[in-house]
Amino acid sequence: MAPGQFRDYVESVRSSMDIVQVVGESVSLRKAGRSFVGLCPFHQEKTPSFHVDQGKGLYFCFGCGTGGDAFKFVMNFHQVEFSDAVRMIGDRLGIPRPAPATAREAQEDRERRRALEALAEAQAFFEERLGSPAGSGAREYLERRGLDLEAARRFGIGYAPPGWDNLLRHLVTRNLRQEEILRAGLVVPRPSGDGVYDRFRSRITFPIRDTAGRIVSFGGRALGNEDPKYLNGPETPVYDKGRTLFRLHETAQEVRQARRVVVVEGYFDAVSLAAAGVPGVVAVCGTAFGAPHAQLVRRFADQVVLLFDGDSAGRRAAHRAVGPVLAAGLGLRVACPPDGQDPDDLAKTGGISAVEACLGAARDLPHFLVDEARKDFDLESLEGRVKALEMILGHLAQLESPLARADAAGRIAEGLGLDDQVVRDELRRAARERRRELGGSAGAVAPSAAKARKLTPAEADLIRFLVNLEHPGTERDRIASEIPLEALGPLARKVITRWADAAREGSTVGLTELAEVVEAHEATHILALPFVQAPEPDLAAALGAVDALRSEHLKAREAALQDSILHARDAAEQDRLALEKLAAARQRQALRHGPAGIAQGGSANAGSSK
Ligand SMILES: [Zn+2]
Repeated sequence: MAPGQFRDYVESVRSSMDIVQVVGESVSLRKAGRSFVGLCPFHQEKTPSFHVDQGKGLYFCFGCGTGGDAFKFVMNFHQVEFSDAVRMIGDRLGIPRPAPATAREAQEDRERRRALEALAEAQAFFEERLGSPAGSGAREYLERRGLDLEAARRFGIGYAPPGWDNLLRHLVTRNLRQEEILRAGLVVPRPSGDGVYDRFRSRITFPIRDTAGRIVSFGGRALGNEDPKYLNGPETPVYDKGRTLFRLHETAQEVRQARRVVVVEGYFDAVSLAAAGVPGVVAVCGTAFGAPHAQLVRRFADQVVLLFDGDSAGRRAAHRAVGPVLAAGLGLRVACPPDGQDPDDLAKTGGISAVEACLGAARDLPHFLVDEARKDFDLESLEGRVKALEMILGHLAQLESPLARADAAGRIAEGLGLDDQVVRDELRRAARERRRELGGSAGAVAPSAAKARKLTPAEADLIRFLVNLEHPGTERDRIASEIPLEALGPLARKVITRWADAAREGSTVGLTELAEVVEAHEATHILALPFVQAPEPDLAAALGAVDALRSEHLKAREAALQDSILHARDAAEQDRLALEKLAAARQRQALRHGPAGIAQGGSANAGSSK
């Protein structure tokens, strides 16, 4: 579709949506004074700190600092992109979507929709088969593995019966065409090139959903020892394995609350742990845990616990996941079931307490890496220890925090029997090299980004005034011309510059968009503004804030000039600086004369900024 069309669509959704209704679908809200409050879905809490302001169309959590408008809420809650969030709300409100711009786009849209329809039909078919007489063998198999029919239903487990075309024939009766079924990955072309046959046969089926909850593929488990034990659906226009985690949609709320995701390798492991009551368990879908997975998880968890089999394949898989997890800035722990069990055995024999004990005993990164090194290198020899250190440093260099690196270095030194200082130095060198490889800029911004910048009360008042749409254009134009950008701190300057750019083009931007121009950890200071318990600043208050900012700025300038006077080279320079300081002091005096004096101060200020 044309970009303008989408913009119009966004605006019509924006003007029709009610944030209390949108948020209320996922969070139970109650009215409290001016706003609505509820338990935050983005962090674990017992008393509500999640506020929704219906009039302003914004939410904010005082517990974890997340906030924004209804679009932002849907993006964060359902883990979808902006355009999908708009469509989800728009569809709910019955606002017609704009037509696709090109015939090709329309075709692709239709193909994706038909594939999703085929997959949903297939799910209904598999579930029905599991409950039918034909599914008795599959039900017995599930019972043996600790899942009765009711539990199987809860997890959407189904059964693909033996035979070449059960599903195919069923889907054709549902008006799906062969090429549509093929595009959904449900059938395989015959080697002869003539026709297709069912991909999943004689298998337990697990529905794989995307983050929006739509079924995008299936995983199939053999009932006996047939190969392969697990059969994975292929990548299709609606299914990208590298960006999909089995049961992430179903367990998203638990992950968000615990800020932790437990990653296992098999569909069955994920289901048995969930059945045992372990929260936040997902599985990779026949692929390694990679960078896109880590990015996906990062949106709502701080820590990844890998719970892989203790065999060498499981170890290798855990080892491969270290890089992507650290690169995404997530914490990592590695748990391993005791005595060669797999996670499913553990849940079946010991229940949730055994699983939680195993997760609780998960090794942190240095511990895991030293254990790995012990298996791969001869730590008795110096050569082996040096090689082990190289392998470990490759991983640890990705740790962003110098504190975390120092802590890890100490423990690695102890584990390998190497000198503490040597390991620290080597790690610092490795981290520096890595930053250089990444292009220097990543390392350069890190120290300043670590300091969370805040807003002064005057900056806060000013921003609150600017984003309040109740003020008429003339009032805001007046303020826009008065804002002393040079007197603002870096955070306020970025935000207000963005606001002023939009104002110059005759448009307005909301707080949610303004918060997007700053770092995530700074955004919370912006998003909290509408929820502070202070009266809304009016024009006089906003002008007062401008005054206060100028005054602070001039005061700082006077102090800097005083410092220069003390270090001046000669008397002439001293005199010149003293005059400048006097001028600044006069400007500051002039600010105290109310609104009339502000204009005066404005012009005087323009003179001094040369
Ligand atoms: Zn929160």
